[in-house]
Amino acid sequence: MRTLTVEELALRIERIERAIAAAADRAGRDPGEVRLVAVTKGVDRRTIDLAYRLGLRIFGENRVQEAMQKFASEPLPPDASLHLIGHLQSNKVRTAVRLFTMIHSVDRSALVTELERRAAQLGRRVPILVQVNVSREPQKHGCAPEEAAELVQHALASSHLELRGLMTIAPLTTDEEELRATFRGLRRLRDELRDRFGIALPELSMGMTNDFEIAIEEGATLVRIGRALFGD
Ligand SMILES: *Cc1c(COP(=O)(O)O)cnc(C)c1O
Repeated sequence: MRTLTVEELALRIERIERAIAAAADRAGRDPGEVRLVAVTKGVDRRTIDLAYRLGLRIFGENRVQEAMQKFASEPLPPDASLHLIGHLQSNKVRTAVRLFTMIHSVDRSALVTELERRAAQLGRRVPILVQVNVSREPQKHGCAPEEAAELVQHALASSHLELRGLMTIAPLTTDEEELRATFRGLRRLRDELRDRFGIALPELSMGMTNDFEIAIEEGATLVRIGRALFGD
């Protein structure tokens, strides 16, 4: 990844924030409902600090190990947060619960159990999202849509976990209708679960560099953007 100057990075942030606001406007949504998660996998700490100075406050990493190396000895300032957006192995849960403010990738019951155990040990209540494989791609992490209710129930019964909503990763395609159907599928599933369990589930983590505008039109509250901010 190329080193960005402060001017280049400032311009990219401005451009993305404008695109986020425009997409929210088109959907008749308040742009303040949509928050940018700056995905910093492969991005060095200097550039992350620069992004912080330019106003970004939520950072997303997809590997526990890489996040450890970048943030364990030098945490982000207290008004910034670090989200885990990638697959979480059970043997990394202890570290993850210490390092991250929110975990987007909760996709199986054994992981809920382990997160609850480690969060209880730390005396913390950890915000989580249930990751759903809406497009049912075999190589992809995330629970099947019909498994989400069971995970939600398990999370609700875990007193050290705070279930905030759902997350998905759309298929790698430029077909707008396919992308839209995936995002809409996550929103509808959220609405169903909300009604069934009588809980808020306010967050929908969906949309990346190639598809975040469609995701916002379909209800995203957290968009995870890497390449458009930091890429070549
Ligand atoms: C890398 C990554 C992103 C960001 O993707 P870009 O295309 O770089 O914007 C978002 N979500 C997850 C889970 C990722 O691993």
